[in-house]
Amino acid sequence: MSARKPTVLVTVDTESDDEWTWRAEPSTTNGQGIDRFQAICDRWEYPPTYLVTYDMLEDPHVAERLGAIARDGRAEIGAHLHTWRTPPYDEKYDRSLAYPHELPEPLLGQKLEVLTRHIEEKTGIKPRSYRAGRYGFDARTLGHLERLGYSVDSSVTPHISWQPYPGVPGGPGGPDFFDFPEEPYYLDRQRIERHGDSPVLEVPLSVRVSGMVPAARGILRRKATSLPLRVARKLGVVQRREMRPCFVPLDDLKALARTLTQESASMINLLIHSSEWWPGCSPYHPDEASVEAFLERLDSLLAYCAQDLGLAGASLATFGDVHATGRRPAGEDE
Ligand SMILES: [Zn+2]
Repeated sequence: MSARKPTVLVTVDTESDDEWTWRAEPSTTNGQGIDRFQAICDRWEYPPTYLVTYDMLEDPHVAERLGAIARDGRAEIGAHLHTWRTPPYDEKYDRSLAYPHELPEPLLGQKLEVLTRHIEEKTGIKPRSYRAGRYGFDARTLGHLERLGYSVDSSVTPHISWQPYPGVPGGPGGPDFFDFPEEPYYLDRQRIERHGDSPVLEVPLSVRVSGMVPAARGILRRKATSLPLRVARKLGVVQRREMRPCFVPLDDLKALARTLTQESASMINLLIHSSEWWPGCSPYHPDEASVEAFLERLDSLLAYCAQDLGLAGASLATFGDVHATGRRPAGEDE
């Protein structure tokens, strides 16, 4: 039997412009770039998963385009919770771009319900895949996802801790996924870092760690901008590689895709933000030239996955469905 090949998963946090800092009034200019991005995915037959925020779907153009593309079978629509953009609003949390895990109940459950219903109303599609805003996923969220009929979560970023990045003042900060699994797993309902009985499949982002001094891995817990970490990475003491075409050079993206294929990983989960595909809508791409370079990089990466590595793609929920059929009782042959 031939070795398993990874499935390419293109996942898009589909959100308003420049959500890296608080803005009273969100704008959705980047919605104009949906068709241009979709054409790249269509070319290589990699159906993207648009994980969409509440406010993006307030833009009729966005709702119309996403709904039409998904009904065509060319993409999936899932949910992305930006707590500060989703009713019911609460200034205490919204102003500080609260992580979902920082919200009290019943507020967390209410926001997830409102978001889920809104996606269905605006696009006609019931979301089955989820990613937490700022990756703020926890066991309470998992309970709500089960209740609301989701089958996949993709909030986990192995080898990365978001704890140095604050949310609510005095709060716990971001989630720590440092020792979480790299491969998909059915979640445990209490301890989300463990395999368990939940029907919700965790599909982590593709992140790998390598380097000359494996014992130095702990330094990766620091903030990305910290000087010791930057020096360690520059010297090759330790490296963290992730599938983020917006700031990772093409050669590194290809190398990671190759590594994942060689290790027979089950998937390559790459992340982009919709705001990255329109000039001036993200910190990464201030102008048309930088957007152009980004989209060319993405196109080249997908071409490499399709043509050189021979990889097929799927949306998150489809990947989850296929994964579920492979869930066989212990002792049976693969
Ligand atoms: Zn987001």
